[in-house]
Amino acid sequence: MIDYKQVLEDIHTELLGIEDTGEVASYIPELASVSQDNFGIYLNRINEENYCAGNWKTRFSVQSISKVLSLAKALSLVGTSIWNRMDVEPSGDPFNHLSLLEMEEGIPRNPLINAGAIVVADILISELKNPKEDFLAYVRGLANDATINYNERVATSEKATGFKNYATAYLLKSFGNLNNPVDQVLDFYFHQCALEMNCEQLSNAFYLFANRGICMRNKAHLTLTQVKRINAIMLTCGFYDEAGEFAFEVGLPGKSGVGGGIVALLPNEYILATWAPGLNPKGNSYLGMQALERFTTKTGASIF
Ligand code: GLN
Repeated sequence: MIDYKQVLEDIHTELLGIEDTGEVASYIPELASVSQDNFGIYLNRINEENYCAGNWKTRFSVQSISKVLSLAKALSLVGTSIWNRMDVEPSGDPFNHLSLLEMEEGIPRNPLINAGAIVVADILISELKNPKEDFLAYVRGLANDATINYNERVATSEKATGFKNYATAYLLKSFGNLNNPVDQVLDFYFHQCALEMNCEQLSNAFYLFANRGICMRNKAHLTLTQVKRINAIMLTCGFYDEAGEFAFEVGLPGKSGVGGGIVALLPNEYILATWAPGLNPKGNSYLGMQALERFTTKTGASIF
């Protein structure tokens, strides 16, 4: 029997003792003010007791982690036709890289880099009646938590400085891979990225990916095949140009965001969410990556 409580406490204590060489994201000005002294971890086990340590109750900007949730919603609405507009190959590039998109004629490498997520946002705008409200309601439903919200200040801050995302959206538009106006698509995208959750809420929102498509409220949202596909994409594309490193060190499907959050899961077993705002040079949480590596090493559990 694994003593999960002890494992989390040990990881927390160990990480407090090492130097956090990460840096808080500052290209979105509103994120720059977050204190680097935060570290939280929450283990959400399917039908078993949950455990937590550190600042797991503090809400943070989930940023790119939201791309998995928008993908899930889009996939459940339009099915496999989504793959006519984007691929499922790891990019090996930073999340906001542009030249690959031009070379590949406006077909994003995968739905978890910015270009792919912007196409997913375009699909949701076409499919949903009130896109921002409906998407928020979807996430709240998944996590069974009506207090989850967008942080308007973060969304506005990113809108003011999101030049690369504008460039990406216009490039997509020029290749005919964006049906709605750029401003409308990016307004949705910036809000989606500005969702705030704490580690517990994040693990709840991702419950369905570890629980065969069935969410916290016991409602089926995705088919088994869809869940399998999304988990495969998280494994191969969830950490930008560090996806290989994450599979190598941690061995779980997962997704990171520049707010310092990471969520990873072992199908049928658990979802593990971490938050530490200092980012390594690839844009993934420095302490979060280490926490997850220590967790799968100490428990001996990974998909491999
Ligand atoms: N909103 C951020 C952006 O588009 C998300 C990036 C991330 O978390 N990697 O730049």
